[in-house]
Amino acid sequence: MESTYDYVIVGAGSAGAVVAARLSEDPDVRVCLLEAGGPPPPSELVPAAVASLQNDPATDWMYNGDPGGVGKGLIGGQMMVPRGKMLGGSSGLNYMAYVRGHPGDFDAWAAGGADGWSYEDVLPYFRKAEGFVDSPELHADPDVHGHDGPVGVSVRQPILRASNQFVEAAGAAGMKQGDYNGRDRLSPEGVASLFQTTTKDGRRTSTFHAYLEPAMDRGNLTVVTGALVERVLLETDGDEVRATGVAYRTEDGTSEEVAASTEVVVCAGAIGSPHLLLLSGIGARDELTAVGVDCVVDLPDVGRHLKDHLHTPLMFAADGIGETMTEVAMSLGPDALRAPAGPLPADPADDADLPEPLAAAKAEAERRIAEWFTTGRGLASSSLYDAVAFFSTGLGDEHTHDAQIGFLATGYTPPIWENVFRLPASAFFEDPESFLDPTRGQVVVLPNPVQPHSEGSVTLASADPAVPPRIELNYFDDPHDVTVMVAVMRRALEVAKAWPGGGLGEPVIPPHLAQAHGHLAGAEPSDALLEDLARHYALTVYHETSTCRIGDVVDPRLRVHGIEALRVADASVMPNVVSGNTNAAAIMIGEKAAELIATDNGVHLHEVVG
Ligand SMILES: Cc1cc2nc3c(=O)[nH]c(=O)nc-3n(C[C@H](O)[C@H](O)[C@H](O)COP(=O)(O)OP(=O)(O)OC[C@H]3O[C@@H](n4cnc5c(N)ncnc54)[C@H](O)[C@@H]3O)c2cc1C
Repeated sequence: MESTYDYVIVGAGSAGAVVAARLSEDPDVRVCLLEAGGPPPPSELVPAAVASLQNDPATDWMYNGDPGGVGKGLIGGQMMVPRGKMLGGSSGLNYMAYVRGHPGDFDAWAAGGADGWSYEDVLPYFRKAEGFVDSPELHADPDVHGHDGPVGVSVRQPILRASNQFVEAAGAAGMKQGDYNGRDRLSPEGVASLFQTTTKDGRRTSTFHAYLEPAMDRGNLTVVTGALVERVLLETDGDEVRATGVAYRTEDGTSEEVAASTEVVVCAGAIGSPHLLLLSGIGARDELTAVGVDCVVDLPDVGRHLKDHLHTPLMFAADGIGETMTEVAMSLGPDALRAPAGPLPADPADDADLPEPLAAAKAEAERRIAEWFTTGRGLASSSLYDAVAFFSTGLGDEHTHDAQIGFLATGYTPPIWENVFRLPASAFFEDPESFLDPTRGQVVVLPNPVQPHSEGSVTLASADPAVPPRIELNYFDDPHDVTVMVAVMRRALEVAKAWPGGGLGEPVIPPHLAQAHGHLAGAEPSDALLEDLARHYALTVYHETSTCRIGDVVDPRLRVHGIEALRVADASVMPNVVSGNTNAAAIMIGEKAAELIATDNGVHLHEVVG
C-alpha cells in the first residue's frame, strides 16, 4: 500500500462505497477507501436472514442511544442504534426497503439553502444508481426509474398473500395503490404498495455488491478493511486549515497514517462522521475541551440536529395470513433449524440417525434454500418488511407526507423481540409462548411518523476513538411528534379494520398498559393508551441523519466549513430526514458527491448526469 493517494475516503457504506467506486473510474486518480469492518458474511446476501446480522460485533457497531421520551418498556431502557460495520456499511445490514423520499423533502432542502438539492436536481442521481426491474404488482411510474444502474431494485417473488392484503386494506382505507417513488406520492391522501427492495434476483444489493465488488480489481483503488479511522489529519497555516490525510488503527492495533494530496472524504455515517470530526477537533470548542480534545475549528453544529424515525409495533394474531416462523426458518435452510432454536442437532455431524419427520424437514429446508439460490424465489427473498403506505396526517409539514405505515408479514420469535428489538415478551404479551408460537401466523403493522420535529445529538463521551460517542435520541422532545404518532397509530388501526375478510381484529395491548388505562378487550384504545404504548414500546426505524447537515457543517458542495480539502458525504449531510427509509437517499448523496468532487478537481467519470 502507498502512503499517499489523491483521495482518502473514510467508510465503505451506502455513500462511501459509491464515492470510491465512481472516483476510481478515472484511471489517473488514486483512491484509498478505509473501512473499519470487513467483507460481509455470506448470510448478508439472504434477505430473510437480516435480523441475524444485528447484535453481532463483526457486522454491527451496536451503539446505544438515550431514547428521551420513549423506551420506558424496553429491556435496559436504551434504544439500540445498529450501524453496519462491513463493506457496504448499513446497506449490508438494513431491511432493504427502497424508498427515495417525497419530492417535497428535497425541495424543502433546497428552499432552506441547500442549492442543487431540489427534487429536479437529485432525481438524475437516483436514476443513475438504480437498476429497476419492473413488475406489474408495483404499478411503477416509468418516468422516474433508472434501469441501468448498479443497485438492483425489485419486488420479492412470489408476492406474499399478507402483503397483498395490506395494500388492499390500505386502499380500502383511502390510500390507493401506486408507485411511492413516483408522482403518486404527491397526493396527500397517500399511496400504498408492496415494497420495492434493494434486491436483485432475490439477493441483497448492498453498495458493496453494486459498486465495490466490480471495482475491486482496479489498480487505482485500494480498499483497506479492519481500519478504524481515529482522526482526520489537519494542518494549520495562519488562518487556513487543511485536511492532509487520516490516522487509523489496524486490526492488530498498529497505528498508521495515509495522506490525501487532493481531498479527504468522510463517509462514516450519521453517527460515525460527527464522531470522527469531533475526535479530530472539529466541533463545539467548550465540549471538545471538556473531554481533552484540542479544538482546531469551532463548529458547534457538528453532531447536532440528529433526526431519526420511530415506529410503534401493532401486532395482530393472523393465522392463515402471516408467515409462520417455522416456514421462515425452513426457507433459510437447515442451519436455521438447528438447536438451540430449532429441532435439528446443533452439530450437522449428528444428523446421521435423524427420525423420519426431522429428516424430511431437513430435506425440505435444503430444497427451499437451493431453490432460492438458483432462482432467487422463495420466502428467503425479502426481509419480510414487505409493504408500505405513505400519507399526510394534516397536522403540518404539508410539503411532504409526514406519515408512513410499514408492514411486517411475520411475528418473529420471543428471542428476536428480546435480543434484537429489546421488547420484553413477558411484559408485552399475556402469554408470549402461545401468541408467538412459531407454527402460528402473526403480522405487525408499523405506524411510523416520518417528519419528526425533535432533534437529538452525537457528542464525545471520551477522546479515545475506541469509546462510542454519546447518542441522545431525544424522541418526543417536541410534543408535535407525540400528536402525530397517535394520529398515525389511529390510521394504522383503520387499515387493520379494513383488512379483507372482516378486519384483523385487535392489536396486542400489553396487559400492564391495558390495566393502567382501564382498557377492556374489544374497546377502542384511547389516545392516552396509544401514547403510552408508543412511550413504552416505540422502536427506532434506524434512520439517523442530519448530524453534519448542509448549511451548518458543510456547504451545498459538501465541503466542511472552515477547512480546505475536507468533505462529508453520507446520511449525516441531509438537511432534514427524508419522509421514508434513508438508504436510497444516502446512495444518491454518494452519487452526487462523486460528481461534485469530480467537477471541482477535473476527475473523469464514465457518466455525468448533473
Ligand atoms: C438495521 C437497519 C435497518 C435499516 N433498514 C433500512 C431499510 O429497509 N431501508 C432503508 O432505506 N434504510 C434502512 N436503514 C437505513 C440505511 O441503511 C442508512 O440510512 C444508510 O445505509 C446510511 O448510509 P451512510 O452511508 O450514511 O452510512 P453507513 O452505510 O452506515 O456507512 C458508514 C460506513 O462507515 C464505516 N465507519 C464508520 N466509522 C468509521 C471509522 N471511524 N473508520 C472506518 N470506517 C468507519 C462503517 O463501518 C460503515 O461501513 C436501516 C439501517 C439499519 C442499521
